[in-house]
Amino acid sequence: MPLLAPTDVRSSHGGTSVKSSSAFDLLAVPVLGTFLKQRWMRPVLQSILLVLAVLLILHGFLGPKLAPKNLATLLTWVHYRGLLVLALLALGNVFCMGCPLLLPRELARRFSAPVRRFPRALRNKWLGIALFAGLLFAYEAMDLWASPAWTAGLIVAYFALALLVDAFFERAAFCKYVCPIGQFNFVASTVSPFEVKVKEAATCDSCTTKDCIKGSRNEAGRIEQRGCELDLFLPRKVGNLDCTFCMDCVHACPHDNVALALRVPGEELAHDGVRSGVGRLSKRPDLAVLALLFTFGALLNAFGMVSPVYAFQEQLAQWLGTRNETAVLGVLFGLALVVEPVVLLCLAGTLALRAARSSEALLAHIAKFAYGLVPLGLGIWAAHYAFHFLTGLWTFVPVAQAAALDVGFSLGHPDWGRGGLTAPAVKPIELGLLIMGFFGSLAVTARIARREHGTAAPRALAPWAALQAMLLVCAIWLLAQPMEMRGTFL
Ligand code: SF4
Ligand code: SF4
Repeated sequence: MPLLAPTDVRSSHGGTSVKSSSAFDLLAVPVLGTFLKQRWMRPVLQSILLVLAVLLILHGFLGPKLAPKNLATLLTWVHYRGLLVLALLALGNVFCMGCPLLLPRELARRFSAPVRRFPRALRNKWLGIALFAGLLFAYEAMDLWASPAWTAGLIVAYFALALLVDAFFERAAFCKYVCPIGQFNFVASTVSPFEVKVKEAATCDSCTTKDCIKGSRNEAGRIEQRGCELDLFLPRKVGNLDCTFCMDCVHACPHDNVALALRVPGEELAHDGVRSGVGRLSKRPDLAVLALLFTFGALLNAFGMVSPVYAFQEQLAQWLGTRNETAVLGVLFGLALVVEPVVLLCLAGTLALRAARSSEALLAHIAKFAYGLVPLGLGIWAAHYAFHFLTGLWTFVPVAQAAALDVGFSLGHPDWGRGGLTAPAVKPIELGLLIMGFFGSLAVTARIARREHGTAAPRALAPWAALQAMLLVCAIWLLAQPMEMRGTFL
């Protein structure tokens, strides 16, 4: 039975098709919905995470140097990442919803509100892509998972960057164009089951204020309620891309016409209509590259944890005639994030175009089919992070107890043997996540093929399905290798 019963309705706002739906609305659920709709909900979540971030920074700089004994490394690289992907899979972009980085900005904006727009040339994902790739590289090159001080430094740098960008530029420039974790969340949340969307398109058609995008001001002209700072106009918004789940539109809409609606996960990846604040996916090479970095980065990040990577790096070092680890790692990243994707995508795209007897340009074809890889990419991230999270589930307890003892509190005697599920118990979960991701990718790609190639869709789909099957096999092999238990004693 379909989860959604959408009705396409033509909107008067530029004639874009929007959906009204009778889908399950999380905001209508008693207690939870009431909580999510409160204006204080986000600041409360952010404050809790801000306190946690400050604790991590302090423990990272002042606590034990050994990573498994330090909250900064343990909670950042084992628990936060695991919870992040599991929440994206189960709900949506709740980590952007509770992001503590924005609290200092909110405070600063009470004294001085920036008026500059973010530079037009940078209003895309290229900067976020570079930072996302840079973060993956720094994680390996600097062994961030093993260094509490570097991890704490990274958190401080992150706060400083967010404050700096948003001190100069109005609206949510940092979230939309800069934040690498945000870009990760935006892509992953295309496969999330919930989406912020209008309840009734007809209500928007007759709405004269459009507060969801413009916000509202009081009689003195001061902003009373923000509209969407990510430039997503609700009647034309499609999917979760660029949506931080901030709920500003929910608070702003005077007609209570915004829902947190259940939907078919991943369906939006096959949609190529115009989206508010995003445009058409097929005309956004930056978004396509982000989707590819998301997928191939998942494989590379898992590869960095297994023992064959050391043999491969040793071999690379011999070929290159250098012992410089950073240079070897740079070549490895170039191979995994540039050479390998280019070769595989060109091969799949060329075969698909030939099979479908299409004269479309190869790059244009790849820019459309790249989005089909996202569910598999999320499956790989989720399987990998779920492994660390579930096997190290309770490791934070003795670390927190020891940290409390260090400052004179007692939360009990640390039992350093605490772990979580055993590795064999987690394997079926990992496999399930990978297989779900693979079938999600297959379903999305089949829809893209049908949209683009009509009756020739099965022929166009075949090479892409083969590529996805190959990536699945690689991921299964990778996750079957003995994995470094980074950040824990296990
Ligand atoms: S303010 Fe509400 S009713 Fe008006 S356009 Fe936005 S979502 Fe629709
Ligand atoms: S205001 Fe914009 S970013 Fe925030 S929840 Fe609404 S659509 Fe998403």
